[in-house]
Amino acid sequence: MIPFNKPFLTGNETLYISDAVSTGKISGNGKYTKKCQDFFEKKYGFKKTLLTTSCTDALEMCAILANIQQGDEVIVPSFTFVSTALAFVRQGAKIVFADSYFNHPNIDADKIEDLITQKTKAIVVVHYAGIACDMDKIMTIASKNNLLVIEDAAHAIDSYYTDKKGKQQALGSIGHLAAFSFHETKNIIAGEGGMLVMNDERFFQRAEIIWEKGTNRVDFFKGNINQYNWVDIGSSFLPSEIVAAFLWAQIENLSAIQQKRKMLWEHYYSSFSAIQSDEIQLPILPKYATNNGHLFYLIAKNISHRTQLIDRLNENGFHAVFHYQPLHSSPFYKNKNGGRTLMNADKFADCLFRLPLFYELETTEIDKMIALF
Ligand SMILES: *Cc1c(COP(=O)(O)O)cnc(C)c1O
Repeated sequence: MIPFNKPFLTGNETLYISDAVSTGKISGNGKYTKKCQDFFEKKYGFKKTLLTTSCTDALEMCAILANIQQGDEVIVPSFTFVSTALAFVRQGAKIVFADSYFNHPNIDADKIEDLITQKTKAIVVVHYAGIACDMDKIMTIASKNNLLVIEDAAHAIDSYYTDKKGKQQALGSIGHLAAFSFHETKNIIAGEGGMLVMNDERFFQRAEIIWEKGTNRVDFFKGNINQYNWVDIGSSFLPSEIVAAFLWAQIENLSAIQQKRKMLWEHYYSSFSAIQSDEIQLPILPKYATNNGHLFYLIAKNISHRTQLIDRLNENGFHAVFHYQPLHSSPFYKNKNGGRTLMNADKFADCLFRLPLFYELETTEIDKMIALF
């Protein structure tokens, strides 16, 4: 069976972990944490980053930093993973779910303004499959209405948006805040892991406090104060050095990983383009977006067509999967959603499916899958 995902080990993970262990400092915010954070800040132009134990945690930090209070409204796409909404619900937000485009799973930027009320505090966007949302449009709406933009960039490492002036900007560097994931299903991994990105200096100091259980311990370690105190809310959001050491080995191989994943994605895309029928729809890449080889998806005609295709792939030894169940009609939120329906999110939930994509996959395996269509 060709699995849907296989975590790729670059070879140096255990070497760096044993180095971290031998230094005698294995809790968080040590040498490897700093190396990883510095790398991301320099490479992608993020103003400040903090590693976290997951993308979910980084999103929870975003919700706290955005000062979300009971009754505030946050606009979130429905076609996404639970954490995109959950992090804000925990701070008391009412989620106003937004629909996808008709032909793309990303949030439909033209429908956001209708969802804004006096209570709206933030817009959360998800760059689905690492393909950018229409950020010029979204940032303009946000500044006009004095809202924060938070990028759920869980899929989006090493992917770019070209703004209307023609400047390429890394995803995660555009919104006020962003969150990345290093879960084993993502492009670069740490088992469980994530990162908060801040592109607005207002958040820097408070974020370090929230990260360290609501204390000013980071300031204490910098030698700025002679004891540390409990000064705010927070949690234990920082990962151990063991996680950061693992991630560092992945970072060292980022360009090789990205090259291979993009090659596989292109192979899927060009092969399916050659056999394109009106039965199956290929992913669309807007002019302003790059592809980072995070995931390859197709859109079937309807749910039974999709089931038939996934079954055929599975019977032939290829593990294909579908996702997401739209959050607006989830068991947890359907009664809080005011009875709204989101047609496009429902369509992608019924029709979208993903094919295997991981570093060690071979193009010959892809060719065998294509032959089944
Ligand atoms: C994977 C994922 C998350 C959660 O990431 P974790 O690191 O597992 O917390 C959040 N949002 C999206 C869109 C994801 O795909």
